[in-house]
Amino acid sequence: WHRWIYDDYYRSYLVPLEKYRLVIPHDLVEESWNRIWNKGYVHEVAQFFATGWPVNYWRIDGMDDTDFEWFEHKYPGWYDKYGKWWERYGELSKRNGHGPITFADANYEYPHRCWSCMVPCLIREDMVVDEVDGQVRTYCSETCHWTDAVAFRPQYEGRPTPAMGQLTGKREWETLYHDMDLAEIVQDLGYVRDDGKTLIA
Ligand SMILES: [Zn+2]
Repeated sequence: WHRWIYDDYYRSYLVPLEKYRLVIPHDLVEESWNRIWNKGYVHEVAQFFATGWPVNYWRIDGMDDTDFEWFEHKYPGWYDKYGKWWERYGELSKRNGHGPITFADANYEYPHRCWSCMVPCLIREDMVVDEVDGQVRTYCSETCHWTDAVAFRPQYEGRPTPAMGQLTGKREWETLYHDMDLAEIVQDLGYVRDDGKTLIA
């Protein structure tokens, strides 16, 4: 992660843009590494999307001991934090008449969605709540809050913001499908095959 963020992304991509007078937020690069390495961001994201597999068009396989060892070796402390949940995920991935983990008691709190980046607010201490455009919104980080509340307004620093930067139209999944039946949601997503089965069944 260190090499990818600092060498590939920062030194070879971002820093050269400075000569075109782009302002590079150096502290954010530091935080992106901190988020992945110290705050477990990637593990939280994996858990979130694995939880919601019935409404994805893909599903992560359950893990075995070799996988657990790999994660623990690469990310010391991983098993204590996520191991139990993945054990349960593995159990529930065997067919025996139970429902998917999404609806099972797996000690998982469904998180709020970030209005700007659309990934959920997975790092609790980073979450921001604010009323913007007369609506209470949640953000995964101060940066995403700034994006919506400051930068992506109709005007920023005296210049009009192009339509693609205005976060308009349909936003989060949860509002879009609020109060809808799961079967209707899956149909609406286009995940039903010609033979009537879903893409993952
Ligand atoms: Zn965000």
